[in-house]
Amino acid sequence: MQKLALFNGKSILKKALPRYNSIGKKEEQAAVRVVREELLSGFVGRAGDYFLGGKYVKELEKRFCEYFNVKYAVSFNSASTALQAAVGALGIGPGDEVITSPYTMSSTASAVLFNNALPVFADIEENSFCLDSESIKKNVSKKTKAILAVNMHGGSADYGPILKIIRKRKLKIIEDNAQSAGATYKRKFTGTIGDIGIFSFNVHKIIQCGEGGVLVTNNKKYGFRAQLIRNHGEAVINDLCKLPNGKRSFEPILGNNYRLSEIHAAIAIEQFKKMDKLNKQRIALADYLTEKLSQFNWLVSPLVFKNSIHVYYSYPFRFLADKIGIKRTTFIKTMEAEGFPLFIGCENPIHLLPIYQKKRIYPNSKFPFVSKEYPHNVSYKKGICPVAERMSEKELLETTICQPPQTKKEIDLFISAIKKIEQNIEELRKYEKA
Ligand SMILES: *Cc1c(COP(=O)(O)O)cnc(C)c1O
Repeated sequence: MQKLALFNGKSILKKALPRYNSIGKKEEQAAVRVVREELLSGFVGRAGDYFLGGKYVKELEKRFCEYFNVKYAVSFNSASTALQAAVGALGIGPGDEVITSPYTMSSTASAVLFNNALPVFADIEENSFCLDSESIKKNVSKKTKAILAVNMHGGSADYGPILKIIRKRKLKIIEDNAQSAGATYKRKFTGTIGDIGIFSFNVHKIIQCGEGGVLVTNNKKYGFRAQLIRNHGEAVINDLCKLPNGKRSFEPILGNNYRLSEIHAAIAIEQFKKMDKLNKQRIALADYLTEKLSQFNWLVSPLVFKNSIHVYYSYPFRFLADKIGIKRTTFIKTMEAEGFPLFIGCENPIHLLPIYQKKRIYPNSKFPFVSKEYPHNVSYKKGICPVAERMSEKELLETTICQPPQTKKEIDLFISAIKKIEQNIEELRKYEKA
């Protein structure tokens, strides 16, 4: 390929930007403290004092309840396992459909499959990158039991119209809030809007302990079922479901080991204390970037709903090729040469992954896509989510330039790189033709 004139060695940024790291002394001390205390996991898979975990697990959960003003918080070893437990807590199973977004991490939809139910993909909105209520309406059927909405990039779905559908159809709603801890939608914390909300402490997230997650709910039954699923519920259910008359009640449930260790919980507690501060730093940088980007009519900043807070886990923006006359790939390459890596947002819409395209998980069965419980034909064809597919193929970009230790200075340089592209646009168009 012809070498770009702009790639002349004089890139705007001289060395790679440092990485975001929210881990410090406090986390280190917390981990050491747990090791010295010698109880690395407080869980026992039996009814009794230790069924609900050790002291750090319990403290983390208590802090979540207080901060988010929810009745129950149940920690997990990841947001993925918490999502699986959330679907299980609602009692969803074979033959049921759950409407979810194709723009997410694969584990959102897998959580439905792990419960042998069917994910149905509704499209996203082009400004929030979250589920579109109009598309949800088109995809609701008699088999729909719940909506699994995903709050992307630190923002949120437009819950006003979504909750109307939920109430009218008597559906349940789970929020995958893995990317949006601390965000709000119309003054309410995301993750607490639905029947159940999920948070992530994965190493890449806003706050992290390596691996970890939390499920929150105000519903006692869902909270209890989530605790059972987290800790081998099938083995303990008899002991925990004693009725006042001494008889035992049976609650069908299958659990696993999805428990969070004490070291992880102790680190997560320290991270959680920092969440507001970390969010404020990113919001200030993102607001500055949004203001600067407004001078380019070919780049579109993310939507922030009225009376809502976006916490910018990453900063998503749309690239309008028709308005600038170069391709997204050329823009990415040029920005990278200037020292600013960009990422393609919505890179793999979930419905296009092989298991959905082939409708097959097991070598010898098409369950749960085709089964006695589900004698229907769910569609995962390319074209069912045109907005998500357009975002993936042409428009959506992400930058981490709004994450500390970056400052406004780095954002100014980022903007200079975009200006340099505009000034050299003819050359870039020629480069594309060559
Ligand atoms: C990261 C992420 C998950 C999974 O979180 P883990 O804690 O890594 O399991 C799920 N959904 C979304 C939207 C995510 O970003």
